[in-house]
Amino acid sequence: MSSLMHGKIEVISLLDGPLPWSLDRIPDPAHRAEAERLTEKDNPDALTMPVYAFLLKFDDKKVLIDSGSGTLGYDTLGRLPKRLEDVGVGPNEITDVLMTHLHRDHYGGLVNGDRPAFPNANLIIHEPEAVFWLNTDVSAMPERAQRAVEEARRVVGLYGERVRRVGTQEVFPGIRARPSPGHTPGHTCWEVTSEGQILLAWGDVIHVSQIHLSAPHVTMEYDLNPEAALKSRLAILDWVVDNNVTVAGAHLPEPGLWKVVKGEGGCELLPANFG
Ligand SMILES: [Zn+2]
Repeated sequence: MSSLMHGKIEVISLLDGPLPWSLDRIPDPAHRAEAERLTEKDNPDALTMPVYAFLLKFDDKKVLIDSGSGTLGYDTLGRLPKRLEDVGVGPNEITDVLMTHLHRDHYGGLVNGDRPAFPNANLIIHEPEAVFWLNTDVSAMPERAQRAVEEARRVVGLYGERVRRVGTQEVFPGIRARPSPGHTPGHTCWEVTSEGQILLAWGDVIHVSQIHLSAPHVTMEYDLNPEAALKSRLAILDWVVDNNVTVAGAHLPEPGLWKVVKGEGGCELLPANFG
């Protein structure tokens, strides 16, 4: 857990746990070889990427960005409720949850058994992501999404009337969706501006920081549309570098909050300004 003051907003990173992955997730042999070289310091049999959710506190709001994996993913995940307890926030106090996208390591924490984990929260989903997961004929989806869609619909359905589908207009003062399609069709970064500073919760723009900051073209099977995902990744990386944006990355290394700069071998992370 780390927190920083971003203008008037307190931003707290909450580690849900480590998510195992393997080099087999990279279909292209040349890409895989490149990834192997970039992760050679890590144990190839125990590769993991962190999963973070973020809490924004401002005015009378306690807004989560993503919800971790809950009990729907690996046993190593699902620590978000404990992290919230550690910072003194009960599940009933969460006023809103902003989703970057509807993959299980981001929405799984929305559910507690067969009930909403955050019973008083609005569930805010960018419209194109909602259309893809909730309104598309299952038979028209890529096979990878077909396997996941039923569970996504069940969990979102638990929020009933409290599901809010939004465009790119502000959802709170200074907070709005910044589309970054590719990983999923409606994958969304949340842009948070306060007192002239910008923070971007960028979801899965980057999967494995050791790989994608210096070799953003390396394609993993997680991206439903690899070409669009790469285009979004490059555009977002340029934008955060050019605008001195603090990033809150779902899969960035501890503490999940960083600045991004251009170095000799591509992008690099610098510590964000912690108060
Ligand atoms: Zn993810």
